[in-house]
Amino acid sequence: MSDHTLQVTDLIKTYNAGKPNEVRVLQGVSLAVKPGEVVALVAPSGAGKSTLLHIAGLLDTPDSGMVQIAGTDMTHLSDRKRTAVRRSTVGFIYQFHHLLPEFTALENIILPQLANGVAEKAAQARAMGLLDHVGIAERASHRPAALSGGEQQRVAFCRALANEPSLLLADEPTGNLDPETSDRVFDTLIGLVRDTGLAAVIATHNLELAARMDRQVRLNGGILETS
Ligand code: ADP
Repeated sequence: MSDHTLQVTDLIKTYNAGKPNEVRVLQGVSLAVKPGEVVALVAPSGAGKSTLLHIAGLLDTPDSGMVQIAGTDMTHLSDRKRTAVRRSTVGFIYQFHHLLPEFTALENIILPQLANGVAEKAAQARAMGLLDHVGIAERASHRPAALSGGEQQRVAFCRALANEPSLLLADEPTGNLDPETSDRVFDTLIGLVRDTGLAAVIATHNLELAARMDRQVRLNGGILETS
């Protein structure tokens, strides 16, 4: 059995296959990430980062190839089982926070836990602990609109970690912030990842941020180059 948290092997993904607007996004991509390892996924816009992260995180399926999470082949699971594994094992962070506007910061972190069967008191305690960890406990009762961009993204990090995933997938997580805020928020993210021992794949075009991760892989022309 593989000791990798995530292992994708020979992924192929083509959109609009056989049509004039065919896009061959992934042409045999393999990547393995160990527990505690933080991998930078560097690629120009349109190269297929989101496609790869969505396939790795069980939000999309490849045309062929294999996705293994914690040594288990996810390729042939039913949709229902994939959803269950995704909820309990994978945390996602996007460029935009996608917090629910009508709920407070705290509630945004509690809700995914309730959906995963956690009792309300325990969910609340964990949510508060996470907000404290990222330094914004005093903002717990604020709705997203009453938070700064950096604070919104910190709440999104807490939400991604709410169900104690073993794999974190982040798609340009600080791409929407000004450079100074981006640096500080990135520090918070890396700190969280290191403290929890997660395996993480973090897509960025920012080479300085990429250099602070354990290693970098580059997606170009459908091929993943490992350095
Ligand atoms: P990135 O995240 O690196 O910007 P994406 O994975 O979003 O790249 O997209 C890779 C390529 O695939 C782009 O050319 C994009 O236009 C195309 N693409 C993405 N999703 C679809 C889709 N559902 N249908 C057709 N083409 C798509």
